Amino acid sequence: MSLLVKGGTVVGPTGTQVADVLVEGEKIVALLDPSFSPAISPDEVIDAAGKYVIPGGIDAHTHMEMPFGGTSASDTFDTGTRAAAHGGTTTIIDFAIQRTGEVVQDGLAAWHAKSEGNCHIDYAFHMILGGVDTDALKAMDQLVADEGITSFKLFMAYPGVFYSDDGQILRAMQTARDNGAMIMMHAENGIAIDVLVQQAVARGETDPIYHGITRPAALEAEATNRAIALAEVARDCPLYIVHLSASQALERVAEARDKGRNVFAETCPQYLYLTLEDQLGAPGFEGAKWVCSTPLRSKHESHAKDLWKGLRSNDLAIVSTDHCPFCMKDQKELGLGDFSKIPNGIGGVEHRVDLIYQGVVDGQLSLERWVETIATTPARMFGLYPQKGIVAPGSDADLVVYDPNATTRIGVETHHMNMDYSAYEGVEIQGRVGTVISRGEVIVADGNYHGRKGRGKFLKRGLSSYLV
Ligand SMILES: [Zn+2]
Repeated sequence: MSLLVKGGTVVGPTGTQVADVLVEGEKIVALLDPSFSPAISPDEVIDAAGKYVIPGGIDAHTHMEMPFGGTSASDTFDTGTRAAAHGGTTTIIDFAIQRTGEVVQDGLAAWHAKSEGNCHIDYAFHMILGGVDTDALKAMDQLVADEGITSFKLFMAYPGVFYSDDGQILRAMQTARDNGAMIMMHAENGIAIDVLVQQAVARGETDPIYHGITRPAALEAEATNRAIALAEVARDCPLYIVHLSASQALERVAEARDKGRNVFAETCPQYLYLTLEDQLGAPGFEGAKWVCSTPLRSKHESHAKDLWKGLRSNDLAIVSTDHCPFCMKDQKELGLGDFSKIPNGIGGVEHRVDLIYQGVVDGQLSLERWVETIATTPARMFGLYPQKGIVAPGSDADLVVYDPNATTRIGVETHHMNMDYSAYEGVEIQGRVGTVISRGEVIVADGNYHGRKGRGKFLKRGLSSYLV
């Protein structure tokens, strides 16, 4: 089966070109000058004239069906990966979880059991370590060597749940330095945050906005700084700060990078577009929709502006979603009258490609940088390149035909995520996902779904290509 995506502008991290993309089976086999294409007769032609042809999006941070705060994220691997496909994302990297006291490999097996046969697009795992001990350190080596899992997430927040102390963090970093893995860090000082939370609740400050007020930027910056220092002590262990939201934390990352350190970071669309006052501070319990950690930051400070700048300068390498949806009914409502009981998370896996394209329209990013931050760099950072993340011969035929002349209106009535609200209700994007191709198969065409559950394959990942 051959497919020709014809006449589009192919966008890659280093430039754009008008080219026809020839797909044979699951792979891209050639980029052709359009004048050559009449010589071939593909089985199917997709007209991409006037449109961009980009590599399928890679969302390097999702939490499908993740248990949290007495409930579970409302998207399953089935509903969540289908929604991702609608939004032009053809690969996710989700987080398998080792709970405190649990064997790492058992946690991984549980995630394979949840995902296998249910995904609409390709998927891979990072591993969350909730209990770093001697067995867990041995398991890190085994996962890197045998399981295609080359990145491990630790938490400086959530004492009693996922929290690692500095000694545990250092030991995991030393192990990662030796086996080539990346340490991913949730960088917030959770011990101090818990004190602020208890004090706020005791004062009767229970509305959702206090979720943000009790997680100040200074405590994100402090933890980021501490993680960078610990990684330095671990012989410059590669470190990746997840969901960075505060200018002060970005400064710490930029300083480390200026010194040539192996420090990387991502941000998420919610921190580029949404704020403490306008969303988290919405009247009544409405703000619960936007309770996530790290929290939304104040619009009176320069966070969003600085994050866009960080994306341009590469101090922020990637935009992921931290997709972790909870419905208002029965889930977010667990925190009625006490913000500390609101499940933390925002759903957005369907909208990342569009929301960051809006940054191109707004003059924040170049077209090339859009593709780099949503697809190419995630592939390189997490050992999926060049199988994924680039429109090039030999790569998987994961392609999105993106129409810059159409618009997308985001809302709960039209989205495909299993959520009873949208974090971006009414937002209009000057662009639209047209055709989505996953390993040579058209799975979305003009908003209609043609894929199927179970077609997505588990990807064993290699080491990051940013490191030697
Ligand atoms: Zn997360």
